[in-house]
Amino acid sequence: MLELSTNVQYVKGIGPRIAAMLLEKGITTVEDLLYYLPFRYEDRLNPRGINELKAGEMASVIAEVRTSGLFRTRRMPIFEMTVGQGRSTLKCIWFNAAYLQDKFHAGQLVALYGKVDWSQRGVERLEILQPQFEILHDPQESNEEERKWQSLEVGRIVPIYESAGKGRLTARWFRRIIHGMLEQLPEDFRDAIPPAVRGQMGLIDRKSAFWQAHWPEAGESLTSLQAARTPALFRLIFEELFYLELGIELKRRKMRAQSGVSFQIHDDVRAAVKRILPFHPTAAQKRVLKEIVDDMREPTPMRRLLQGDVGSGKTIVAFQAAVIAIENGYQVALMAPTEILATQHYLSARRILERAGYRVVLLTGSQEAGHKKQTRRHIAQGNAQLVIGTHALIQESVEFDKLGLVIVDEQHRFGVMQRFKLMKKPGGAEPDVLVMTATPIPRTLALTLYGDLDTSVLDELPPGRTPIKTRRVGDERTAEVWDFVRKQVKAGRQAYVVYPVIEEGALEGELKAAVKMYEQLRMRDLAGLRVGLLHGRMSADEKDTTMAAFQRGEIDVLVSTTVIEVGVDVPNASVMVIEHAERFGLSQLHQLRGRIGRGAAQSYCVLMTGGKISPEAEERLQAMVRTQDGFEIAELDLQQRGPGEFFGTKQAGIPNFRVANLLRDRDVLELARKQARAVLEGPNEHITQQDITNAVMHLRSHWNRRYGLVEVG
Ligand code: ADP
Ligand code: MG
Repeated sequence: MLELSTNVQYVKGIGPRIAAMLLEKGITTVEDLLYYLPFRYEDRLNPRGINELKAGEMASVIAEVRTSGLFRTRRMPIFEMTVGQGRSTLKCIWFNAAYLQDKFHAGQLVALYGKVDWSQRGVERLEILQPQFEILHDPQESNEEERKWQSLEVGRIVPIYESAGKGRLTARWFRRIIHGMLEQLPEDFRDAIPPAVRGQMGLIDRKSAFWQAHWPEAGESLTSLQAARTPALFRLIFEELFYLELGIELKRRKMRAQSGVSFQIHDDVRAAVKRILPFHPTAAQKRVLKEIVDDMREPTPMRRLLQGDVGSGKTIVAFQAAVIAIENGYQVALMAPTEILATQHYLSARRILERAGYRVVLLTGSQEAGHKKQTRRHIAQGNAQLVIGTHALIQESVEFDKLGLVIVDEQHRFGVMQRFKLMKKPGGAEPDVLVMTATPIPRTLALTLYGDLDTSVLDELPPGRTPIKTRRVGDERTAEVWDFVRKQVKAGRQAYVVYPVIEEGALEGELKAAVKMYEQLRMRDLAGLRVGLLHGRMSADEKDTTMAAFQRGEIDVLVSTTVIEVGVDVPNASVMVIEHAERFGLSQLHQLRGRIGRGAAQSYCVLMTGGKISPEAEERLQAMVRTQDGFEIAELDLQQRGPGEFFGTKQAGIPNFRVANLLRDRDVLELARKQARAVLEGPNEHITQQDITNAVMHLRSHWNRRYGLVEVG
């Protein structure tokens, strides 16, 4: 008897050799193979008549092979085949397909799936281009066994699988193997989702869910199948997201069970927090600070995510939290993603905190070794109260005397929370953690990646800002753009000009490179202005010197790559020119634009484009012109790039789902989260202790490794 945990090599029709091919798809057990779901379904119950086809649609057709032949054109061999249903015929075309010659002969019944279009050769006739195909019935080689399978392949909704083993394991192969395997599996699969949850969500049992996900019943709607909303697919998706959220919720509870620092807020602390304010905080800043303070007073460790668009004023809120910790006798670490940003935080901290008597130190990789050593000693002895540095630096080797609060400025470079582990002091209380991000995170991703954090949102810009004017300009109008930059500089403003690459290489030859354009602008288009250059290959010292000069207003125009995208704050800069804007991702464009519009003056963002623009790029540019709302932009970016790429790195900690899809299944995610939380509220009249234990055990054995970030104790 097969079981879910049985190795696939023992499934009928699979041996060690095929098992090795399946391994390439990550399939080792029977259960893994069950999760190898069809990527689409074909309706062969109501096949389309050739006469009903329309140009431009994807269609599946069942018909009989009439004639076929190979035509050699100057450019490539083309395989043409005519299929028919009664008197109607349809031509199928495959390019470069000499290998198809021996596959087809008249009389075969074939299923075809592909794009229907008008014939290229001027005849008013439809063709189907490069269709996927399956030979359903071949009168020349039909036998008993084949006829049995044919009942699975026609006259019903048929699952279509991605092939494996370099094409050797075809969709048809998967159908037969999986069907046979399902027949041999026990009647009931163990189901660790608590009965109360199953009842409330109306979940069908696991075995039926797998059966019907692979082999939909006759009445099933093709639309629900494609939308993954049949009872079977819903059950599998819910299950996957339920365990994910259960893991996140467990992690959250485990963290809360640790002992943290309970910061005291008495009048002196209140006064100190007010004293550092250089301006009146916005209502949003006050509200968010209160949320943070409430957490900090609790004896459980704070884990809070502060989302605020660029320029919303996160820094001062972070400094206020730091003051609370320091006034309570604790040290604070502030981690930034880059040296430039760490340095900038350090400069603001000196301006705002050192003046109030707090001791601030900076640790960066490029500092001289002796200096670093001395700074470390200050930190270990507790002299340094606020330690600012890059992520790498602080987590590596810094020993604190009494660390109470960690502030992580993630900007848009995301990592996972695990890094804080390195900072724990043996024996000490768990520090509070505040993560700040300038990337508005779409809710689906927040629930998946940061579901164990509490969230605060700074949704109000400081007063006195004028909305940025954003324009698209074609390359042919560069002269006007430089004229405009000159005028702005004359009026006392500063400008950024951003390029997608540093130096012109062979590959990106047509792109304007920052270094080359810097020379050209300095010598020609912007001659007479003070032009500076900033890019990622400069040494940290050079970068700092240039940034500082720009900040002091000694540089009028800063030519740069995306290194300035991260957190730079120069309120007098009011122009952002982005060349080859079509090359940038949406979040990146949004971040870049966030560098301006920080002062009272009208700011301008100029998106210059050159060459061919893809429809997606077009959509990005239009969105930039239309809106400045970070959440709207983030949602669109997520739609365009998908969850894996959203943060610009593939390794952003997004779980590797088997069935669920975050873009499609947001509603199911919300349900799963609610149910997972309710389960862990138990035991109660609905949920028994045994229910909880079963679910947690199942999570551990089945989903933990896959989710990576979910660590269950
Ligand atoms: P971000 O959220 O991008 O980190 P910052 O903290 O750098 O934003 O703030 C952006 C700019 O707005 C800074 O120059 C800061 O001094 C200023 N600022 C922040 N809050 C206020 C406020 N309440 N009133 C006036 N200016 C503010
Ligand atoms: Mg606390």
